[in-house]
Amino acid sequence: MYDIIQKKRDGLELTDEEIRFLVEGYTRGDVPDYQMSAFLMAVYFKGMTPRETTTLTLAMMESGDRVDLSEFGDLTVDKHSTGGVGDKTTLIVAPLAAALGGVVAKMSGRGLGHTGGTVDKLESIPGFRTTLERDEFLRQVREIGLAVVGQSGSLAPADKKIYALRDVTATVDSVPLIASSVMSKKLASGAKNIVLDVKVGSGAFMKAVSQARELARAMVDIGRLSGRRVAAVLTNMDVPLGYAVGNALEVREAVEVLAGHGPEDLTAVCLELAARMLALAKGRPYAESLARAEAALREGLALRKFEEWIRRQGGDPSFIGEPERLGAAPVTAEFTAPVDGYVSSMDAELIGKAAAVLGAGREKAGDPIDYTAGILLRRKTGQPCEKGGTLAALFTSKKEKLDEARAYLEKAIRISPEKPEPQPLVYGVVE
Ligand code: URA
Repeated sequence: MYDIIQKKRDGLELTDEEIRFLVEGYTRGDVPDYQMSAFLMAVYFKGMTPRETTTLTLAMMESGDRVDLSEFGDLTVDKHSTGGVGDKTTLIVAPLAAALGGVVAKMSGRGLGHTGGTVDKLESIPGFRTTLERDEFLRQVREIGLAVVGQSGSLAPADKKIYALRDVTATVDSVPLIASSVMSKKLASGAKNIVLDVKVGSGAFMKAVSQARELARAMVDIGRLSGRRVAAVLTNMDVPLGYAVGNALEVREAVEVLAGHGPEDLTAVCLELAARMLALAKGRPYAESLARAEAALREGLALRKFEEWIRRQGGDPSFIGEPERLGAAPVTAEFTAPVDGYVSSMDAELIGKAAAVLGAGREKAGDPIDYTAGILLRRKTGQPCEKGGTLAALFTSKKEKLDEARAYLEKAIRISPEKPEPQPLVYGVVE
């Protein structure tokens, strides 16, 4: 281990055997935390080549369970978001891609801090089960082309252990370490094709486009070197996606998109992701895939697949026509504009925090969630507002939290007399 640390410290390239030795040794408990910490810090400063990063990814993937989706051939397609606020895209793109012949056998995560998680959103649907036995999961995928479950604890345990160490040694924000961590779990999940939604902006892990592009490149390289097809879309997370932040509120908004009358930004990002998924899985040109995805939304194909999926996983789909069936928070309040003007910027992370204190999120893993809590934005960046007009509606069961949420929103939402320049929704694609 000493030699491996020294080699990386001096900027030299490690062999596959050396990388496997340290991942396997650390996972078994033979390599102590202090040596792994020194190694991670050396990587933080010296980086890793695409080959080293891929070997690290594969070694972490091989440390635990892997889902075998080979029976579905090249049609399997996964989608991963690096985490955002109001990001309900999986609820929309999973049925959209499945409605057009993609096979979506997906594991999703729970929310933490200011970011939400798909599993929590799905669990806000009465009856919906996010835990399925492997056989049941695969049967459902065979029959309807779509299943989404919570991520199994035995997926890439080496990553789990290394991530916990990174968290306490200031080595989380290293591109090769993030890329290998994300991709070890994606590769273990088994899909042949993977579309990554790399979020950029105030509500994202990556605050700058250049950083996000570097991370996207590293993950796409891992895919290429390990025989998967990967595309990464860099999307805007300076403002929440859509208007709803909070679990049941987001499910309602997802249904609006599937029914063809959802917010423009959310619809556009979902169409982009679904088109990239179909282009990879079905081998069709992007423009044709986009046109098909648009038609599937317009003609209600995706909404029908969504309903089939909800029903199949035990959910009561009646909320599709009657959204109030998802429940309503007992306390509602408004957040109003202090002056006339335009919303000139929003800090998506602070809006996520405001929703979390209202009960929509959790501070630490395992905390309970209030599915009905959250925020409905009434104005977003670029839109005009007038003094006393509503900028956001707040929903909660904890009246005493309203002031704290308002304090976050005050910091998050800036108003100026000038209309700001419009921001791009998609910054680019790395393939
Ligand atoms: N998410 C992950 O899964 N891993 C990282 O390293 C960072 C974010």
